[in-house]
This record gives sequence, structure tokens and C-alpha cells, in this order.
Amino acid sequence: MPYTLVIGSGIAGLTSALLLAKEGQQVAVIEQQARPGGLLQTYRRAGHSLATGLHYMGLLGDNDFLGRLWGYLDLSGDLTFLPLTEEGGELIYIGGKVIRLSNNKAKLEKEFLTLFPNDRGIIEAYFRQMEETVSRFALYRLNPPKGQEIGPNESTSLLHWLEQQKASKDFINTISYLSFLYGLSPAECPLYVHLIIHDSFLRGAWRLKGGGKSLINSFLKKLAAYDVNIRTNARLAALYPHEGSLVAELQSGEQLMAEKVIYTGDIGALPAILKEPKDKRTALFLKRIGEQNYTAGMAGVGIAFAGNAASAQNADFLRHNHYIYLPDFLAAMPQFLREIVTTSQTPWLFISAEEAGSAQLLLPVPQAISQNWPSPGEPAYKELKEELAEALIKVALVALPELKKAKIIDTFTPFTYERYLGIRSGSAYGLAKNIDQLSSARFTAKTRIPGLYLAGQSILLPGIVGASISALSAALEILGPKLLCKIK
Ligand SMILES: Cc1cc2nc3c(=O)[nH]c(=O)nc-3n(C[C@H](O)[C@H](O)[C@H](O)COP(=O)(O)OP(=O)(O)OC[C@H]3O[C@@H](n4cnc5c(N)ncnc54)[C@H](O)[C@@H]3O)c2cc1C
Repeated sequence: MPYTLVIGSGIAGLTSALLLAKEGQQVAVIEQQARPGGLLQTYRRAGHSLATGLHYMGLLGDNDFLGRLWGYLDLSGDLTFLPLTEEGGELIYIGGKVIRLSNNKAKLEKEFLTLFPNDRGIIEAYFRQMEETVSRFALYRLNPPKGQEIGPNESTSLLHWLEQQKASKDFINTISYLSFLYGLSPAECPLYVHLIIHDSFLRGAWRLKGGGKSLINSFLKKLAAYDVNIRTNARLAALYPHEGSLVAELQSGEQLMAEKVIYTGDIGALPAILKEPKDKRTALFLKRIGEQNYTAGMAGVGIAFAGNAASAQNADFLRHNHYIYLPDFLAAMPQFLREIVTTSQTPWLFISAEEAGSAQLLLPVPQAISQNWPSPGEPAYKELKEELAEALIKVALVALPELKKAKIIDTFTPFTYERYLGIRSGSAYGLAKNIDQLSSARFTAKTRIPGLYLAGQSILLPGIVGASISALSAALEILGPKLLCKIK
């Protein structure tokens, strides 16, 4: 029976392993960390559960990609989805105003038209363009991919398109809050990436009761039913072909033979992992990998409300996502935070609330800045985290006075993600799928190394949805297109 080794147990690894196991394939997973789950993991502070890489996600409607995929994988029965307040679920603090935006296409279009009446033509064109773009992305709709997925607009940036349409500055700035969700400024972000990700959040944007942990547990339960072993503390150090198979060498020196390998780890680590023989085209492929830029990392603060978390005062705050446009608050910031914000491609502070009465304030930090920060362990690092936490709370309080009732329970930086989850430079969304490296950053599930497949957030699109689509793409390469008929 074919044996596939999956490297990594984040959403991409767990999804591809379960897809293969359900089809009767022999599968094993190795994970370098002590616990499976990658960026789905949650952690506890002061009695509260805090998220790492899953705050909310889209596409969970019955007819949408994740809704169908998780239904097919039999995960949905274990999960409780918590819809955001559908009306005005996203609160955008910009230009001294609070703008309430819905996670529903028809409602959002009406809200945009009321807020930006002079942009009517552009707003209508925006939603038309969104429909057209997602209709070309076959896998997003669980249709067999037909090669060229995206089409004519792929080399246009979001900003270029909006400016061509003569959109107002206010509309452009407001819509740029979405840039937080993929780590690219409107000038860098391909229009199709923005539109697909926006569309995904407009098809039911949900939190998960119990956060990413409940999803990990559901995956583990299903994988165990198929006897799929997940080995933790097992780091892939080298990979090379041998007599028609692949040899995966672990850090410990142990060697595992597999017919196929699905690699979901950091794509930038592949040049060090893939050993000889390297032909010319493989060498070019590895060189291309080495040249990629990554998205910024996240620093921030975990907070919790004292007393009854569900009290009426906090309940409204906790039912929304909050996005604060930081350039409006420069005057309230200490110099070092101002520097982060003015260098950032995505200058938004995202406040992700949890139903349980805790929340996280997340700030994208450009690597050009974090690389000059003191290292964890140095006293100056602890000071920096404390100063940052204080400054973020101060800025957030200007927009959201109710945060006065919250206390700080955690602080983190891109180093935290690097250290505890092994994420390169703490990058939040993997490879930057930006206009400049659009064709060079395009990696497909099938590689030119026989038996090696790629999945994960850097392959097609970032986020839980992007990593899940890439996992399906890798499974389809191995199992063939008939799998799609079963999922539909
Ligand atoms: C702060 C933050 C907030 C986010 N919020 C959201 C959100 O609200 N919604 C959303 O959709 N997306 C969000 N994202 C993005 C989302 O978390 C990721 O896109 C997605 O989880 C990536 O999944 P993955 O499987 O590709 O990678 P990972 O979850 O990183 O999994 C890769 C796994 O491979 C393992 N691994 C790597 N190398 C090796 C090796 N050599 N040997 C063995 N194992 C290895 C790693 O340890 C890891 O467990 C967020 C990200 C961050 C950082």
C-alpha cells in the first residue's frame, strides 16, 4: 500500500493526512514540536485561553469550501461555530469614526454605498470583480483545477485597480483593514488575493468554540480512528531520493522511508533539507525559494476582563472584531511605536475578542524593525515587551474606552512565534504573495522532485482557508480528481 509521510501537523498537515487516510492510504505525520497543531494551538494565561493563529475564519457555509471539506472529513459534528454578530460584526476605527461592516456580501454592499455614496460605481465594480475572481478559482469551489486558475487581473495590485477606478481615499483606506488578514499593503497585494480573501470572510465569518484546540482535537480523534500515527518531537532534517522512494532523515539521525512526502513546513527551509542529487532545474527551484520575502510578524498583548466576562458591558465588545487604523493615532504613541507604524505595510491594530472574556491586541511588526530588537532572554527584551504592551493599550483606549476594565495577562512578539511554534522570523502569513514576487512565489503542490508535494500557507493563499486549499491540492495530486466528487 502506498505510504505517505506528512511533515508538519498544522491545519495543512492534518488536513492532507486525513484526506489520504480516509481514502485508505497509509499515512504517518511527523511534527517537530512537542504538541501537534502548529498555528492552531491555543495556550492558557491567568485562567484564560488565548489563540495563536486562529482567531476567525470564513467559508464555513454549508456550500462553501471549509463547510464542505470539514463535513466530508466528519469534523463538523465535533465543532461549535460561533457566528460573529452578522450585522456590523467588524468595527473599523478610522478618521475619528467607527464604521460597522457586516460579514455578509449584500449587507456590506449596502453599507459601503451608504458610507461612500460617491464611490457607487466602484463599489458595484468591486463586488462584480469579486464574483468573477472567485468563479475562476476552481478549487475554491471544489471544482477540478484547469491549470490557469486566476486569469487576467493577477498582476494588478489592489491599489492600482482602485486608483484606476478613481476610488476615494476614504474608501481605499477603509478597505485596507483587510490587509491585516494577509499581511500585504494595497499597493503590494494582487487584486485577486485580496478579493478571494475578502470573499472568504463574507461567506460566514466564524469563531470556533474552544478555539483552534477544538479543531486539533477533532482532527486527532479522526486520524486515530484511521490508525494514523503523529510523532511529535520529530524534526525533518534531510530529505533525499533513494531507489524510487524518499528517505526522510530526522534530526535524531533516524531514517524513515516513504513513497511520497507532503511537506507543510517553512518552504524557506527546503534548500537546507533537500539533499543531492540536485539537477539544474531543481537547483533553480531551490534558488527561487531562497529569494522569497516573508510577511511581517505579530507582536501584541493578551487581555482579560475581570469578573463576569459575559456582563452586558463587555458582551458587545466581545461579539465584534475591532480594527484600529493606527496612522490616526500617531500623536498618542511613543516614538518607537510610531516608527513601527510608519514603516508597516499594514498599519492596523487588530483586537480579536474571545467569547470567554479575553482578547488579543495584535500589531504587525516589519522584520526590518524586529530584527534589531534585543533577543528573548535579555533584560532589554522583557522591557521592550512591557513598553509595547503599555503603548498598545494606551492607543487602543483612545478608540475603545471599555478596555479600561481589562487587565494584561500576556505579551508576545514575532520571537514568541519563532521560538514556540518554529515560524520563520515569526512571519504571520508565510511567503508574501505580493506583486513583486508574484510569479517567483508561485509554488504548486506537485514539485519536480518525484514523490515530493508541498502544502501549507505559502503555497496558494495564506490563512486557515489558504492552507486547507493547498492540502486538498496536494491530496488531489496523489489521489486523483475523483476525490472532489466525493467532497461535493
Ligand atoms: C498571530 C496570527 C494570527 C492569525 N490569525 C488568523 C485568523 O484569525 N484566521 C486565519 O484564517 N488565519 C490566521 N492566521 C494564519 C494561519 O494561522 C496560518 O495561515 C495557518 O495556520 C498555517 O497553517 P500551516 O499548516 O500552513 O502551517 P503551521 O500551522 O505553521 O504548521 C506547520 C507545522 O509544521 C511543523 N514543521 C515545520 N518544519 C518541520 C520539520 N522540519 N519537521 C517536522 N515538523 C515541521 C511546524 O512545527 C508546524 O507545526 C494567523 C497567523 C498568525 C501568526
